[in-house]
Amino acid sequence: MSNYIVLVKQVPDVSRITDNAFDPESGTLIRSRLVNVINDLDTQAFAFASQMKKMSGDNNGKIVCLSMGPPMAEEVLKYCLARSADIGILLTDKALGGADTCATANPLAFAVRKIVAEIFNGSNDYYILAGMQSVDGDTAQVPAQVAEELQISCLAYVTGVEFKNNRFEFKRIISDGSQIASVRKLPAVITVAKYEFPLFASFTGTRKADKAQLIRWGVDDIKATHIGVKGSKTSVIRVFPPGKSTRKCQHVTDAAKLADIILKSYAESSGSSESGDSHLSKYALPANRKNLISRTFETTIKENEDYKILANKLVSLGITDISKIDDAIKERIIQDSNGHFHKKSLEDVLAGCALTQPTFTGEVWVAAEHSNGGISPATLELIGKARELADSLQTKVGVCLVGSGVEGLCNELIVSGADNIYLVEHNLLNVFDPCCYRKAMSDCISKYWPQIVLFAATPQGRMLAPMVAYRTGCGLTADCTSLDIRDSSRKGQIAILLQTRPALGGNVMASICTRNSKSQMATARPGVMKKLAPDYSRKGNILKQSIDLTESDLSLDIIKTEQSQGSADFSAPVIVSGGKGMQNRDSYDRLVNKLCNALTIKLKTTVNKGASRAAVEHGFIDRPYQVGQTGTSVGPKIYIALGISGAIQHMIGIANAETIIAVNTDPNAPIFKQCDYYLVGHVEEVVPLLTESLKMGT
Ligand code: FAD
Repeated sequence: MSNYIVLVKQVPDVSRITDNAFDPESGTLIRSRLVNVINDLDTQAFAFASQMKKMSGDNNGKIVCLSMGPPMAEEVLKYCLARSADIGILLTDKALGGADTCATANPLAFAVRKIVAEIFNGSNDYYILAGMQSVDGDTAQVPAQVAEELQISCLAYVTGVEFKNNRFEFKRIISDGSQIASVRKLPAVITVAKYEFPLFASFTGTRKADKAQLIRWGVDDIKATHIGVKGSKTSVIRVFPPGKSTRKCQHVTDAAKLADIILKSYAESSGSSESGDSHLSKYALPANRKNLISRTFETTIKENEDYKILANKLVSLGITDISKIDDAIKERIIQDSNGHFHKKSLEDVLAGCALTQPTFTGEVWVAAEHSNGGISPATLELIGKARELADSLQTKVGVCLVGSGVEGLCNELIVSGADNIYLVEHNLLNVFDPCCYRKAMSDCISKYWPQIVLFAATPQGRMLAPMVAYRTGCGLTADCTSLDIRDSSRKGQIAILLQTRPALGGNVMASICTRNSKSQMATARPGVMKKLAPDYSRKGNILKQSIDLTESDLSLDIIKTEQSQGSADFSAPVIVSGGKGMQNRDSYDRLVNKLCNALTIKLKTTVNKGASRAAVEHGFIDRPYQVGQTGTSVGPKIYIALGISGAIQHMIGIANAETIIAVNTDPNAPIFKQCDYYLVGHVEEVVPLLTESLKMGT
């Protein structure tokens, strides 16, 4: 008899975030101004658990819903109790506040232990289900880290389930297609990426939920080891709205003019291979700076401003040596700083200014991903970024390559920018089993302690990174769109990794730093960073690592693997994407292909297609073609958006495109305020005219 624990979370409604939700002074969000709802993917995970129980035909299994949050989070448990949940447990305690994913997963795992002991009578025959990610954090880390704390299997990106031969077979998304797999032993964590069979509350269910007594546990009940701010391994430095568009937003009145603009824009495009996120100046270690007082590499804008004030004051006082600053000088600085410094803050800043040694040491690593005998493009992009970071830090780029028979891939990693390849090979690593891979990678990291480890935010990387981070006791920031080396002198941290990512469904950006960790870990979505041009003269070292693995380390039985039909190649200089406005799959195929072909011939270059999430969800094209926050980020010379409204989650993914062109029937479509050229019109009419004009254009 299997039992089920469903992790449910209350989150802000990301479709209703108002401007006054920001505190302009502190740059933080005022949570009380946000409307809260149950995390949508958790409702799907809950429906999934109910379906599993029904499929197994076992009516005695219990569904326990567990939530961690403030007292008002009991609403999400009532939602579940009004449907088919048997028990609702709320983990609520002020001490749990301010937690990052590590300090969320840890108490949840300890609560699971208590549920098993007290409600399941010690039976290990249970599944933990959770939505793959939540819209507020959007990191996909917590379920994998719960599995890591409990030392159990984890199957992520699950989209379907069947009960066959007395066991569950799960369908899930993998980096290059889909897979049917079952877990070898229970308990196991299942993270649901999509399951669209919602459960509806019955009248009696709602009455039962209203009367039900929820179980409330505090920190003393569960005895977790990492809680709240203290137990967290990352901290948010700053939250800010996404930058305002600097696009041209020019209205074009006919297709012939638009064709000319496309040809001209392509001819004038820069073809820059700069990393997509290189908006900040390149970092220089303190030891390489002309003057220690000159600090332009602080983590926040406010700290940079404070430093400018301090530096100017010191220059005006003729002070170049920080150690010569006595109490009288400090007093003058405080008096003249217009409230920017108090005694303690000034002393902290001056102490930080005197530091020259970086807080972290070691190499900058990339966790390599490979499939079908080739290195994933996302890995090569990360090596490009790692090279830039390592050069600033004056250290080496390492790549941890795990697999079986993969030594032949090392050269590609080296010519792409790696110095050292840490090669972990074993025949049990021939397919991606999360438990085996996380052991291989964690052992390697714990042996060498690189200062930074980058993972691709692919289905594989988003599963592996949280497990590895938790196992090695390190902080992890997921889905970064920008990675920079900065100082936080006030906190005495020099040359740390500033990790910036979208949060709250892309409505805000957050800059995060790692704390209480030996390595700083981050994932970045494919397409955000740029790979370097291969340098075939580069030399590197291959360092072979031994690993102890047995059959008992395998966590999954892989039943069937299906590669995606056609892989999306987003490295093309031109991308034509279709959205829900394409109406159906036929129109999508016909119109997008037509425009792609015309552009390929005219521009004599590769043109590839993409799609919005709505187009993917309506079945116009396969998931690998999705562009955006939860798809792939792209940076072509020209991006043409057909029938796409311009939701923030889509626009984040095309921020690095040189020229954005949009066609939409709605003259007020949001994309028109975020693109370079737009034409108001029906795709059925515009695309044929545009294609004809391209053929004729010079
Ligand atoms: P819609 O918003 O429905 O827009 C369709 C557009 O087509 C409209 O502007 C309409 O005027 C126009 N149109 C209709 N008919 C025609 C016609 N005949 N000719 C021309 N124009 C026409 N979205 C992504 O794309 N990528 C992501 O990675 C992504 N991740 C997300 C992550 C989270 C956490 C969340 C909450 C959402 C995410 N979304 C993502 C979804 C996103 O919010 C939008 O729902 C989605 O981008 C909308 O796709 P769309 O523009 O195709 O559809």
